[in-house]
Amino acid sequence: MFRREDTLPVKIGNIVIGGGNPVAVQSMTNTRTEDVTATVYQIKRLERAGCELVRVAVPTKDSALSLGKIKRNISIPLIADLHFDLSLGFIALEMGVDKIRINPGTVPNKDILRSLVLEAKARNVPIRVGVNKGSLPDTYSKDKGGLVKCTLDYVKLIEDWGYNNLVVSIKSSDPEETVDANILLASYVRYPISLGVTEAGGGWRGIVKSSVGLVLALKEGIGDTVRVSLTGDPVMEVRVAYEILRNLGLRKRGINLIACPTCGRCQVDLESYYKEIESALDDITMPMDVAVMGCSVNGPGEAKLADCGVAFGKDKAVFFVKGEIVGTFSPREAIEKLISYVKEAEKSENENVTAILLSTERDA
Ligand code: SF4
Repeated sequence: MFRREDTLPVKIGNIVIGGGNPVAVQSMTNTRTEDVTATVYQIKRLERAGCELVRVAVPTKDSALSLGKIKRNISIPLIADLHFDLSLGFIALEMGVDKIRINPGTVPNKDILRSLVLEAKARNVPIRVGVNKGSLPDTYSKDKGGLVKCTLDYVKLIEDWGYNNLVVSIKSSDPEETVDANILLASYVRYPISLGVTEAGGGWRGIVKSSVGLVLALKEGIGDTVRVSLTGDPVMEVRVAYEILRNLGLRKRGINLIACPTCGRCQVDLESYYKEIESALDDITMPMDVAVMGCSVNGPGEAKLADCGVAFGKDKAVFFVKGEIVGTFSPREAIEKLISYVKEAEKSENENVTAILLSTERDA
């Protein structure tokens, strides 16, 4: 099996996936692509959350013609998602997209696919062969074997047309099938795998389903880029993806919140404090462990081990930084101190990075 370190690197705009590069986080907009303002606004929100690649649906000529304007207004690579009308792919390439995704189940005929592949080749734009169980052609069995066979058949077609700048994916709404199929696929091809459980649903159900699939596959060493598919705001997909990757030790971004579930010992409204702190620190990108604990049983221990933390008690809270007690405050004061400490730490980290960059530039 070709693991993450073994896959062929593929450059998508300014991001390289595969070949042991960090697992990239991607998402897909759910705006109408023709609505450039709404789409760019959503992509900007995704960028702020850490999204590194973004895919947009291209179902109409107008949506294809919007891609240039969208691309000029965003900073991350743009991927055109094509189904049925592959002629739109030529417009997408003309508009400068960084990758196209084709789905064998919605390719109208192989002649137009061949022309599109040759056009992508001429522009050196990567193609994802993305097989989805929901649109698997009837000629294939609706199981792991059929999903893999379909992917390999289309990969072979494209290779025979002389192009191998490819990414592959097999998605099913069943996490176990998704994992098994992608593991099998990784025993045949070295192309980077775009990993995700499709149609996973929304809310906690979707998060659990996606997490099960992603964790099992990533622990096996496969998956070069991930998308968590959730019904709803795609920004949540990015947040969940980083949480999964952080907990597997694959990426470090943002706050690792350590908080107790509370119990009969807790004498504060920890849930609302937790939500307040979580939302205040949503946009922090610096990796940091932050503890929010309900009482003195495990509170001081966890707060001491974290980069900073608060252990609450009745009408008071002990604030810790790097294992040391800063002081005992009212719960409100402690929350404010914690939030401002984290924000300041990120600010000074950024200033340090800028200072280092500037001095490197001067030295060069
Ligand atoms: S830290 Fe305290 S309040 Fe929180 S779960 Fe443990 S014993 Fe209960």
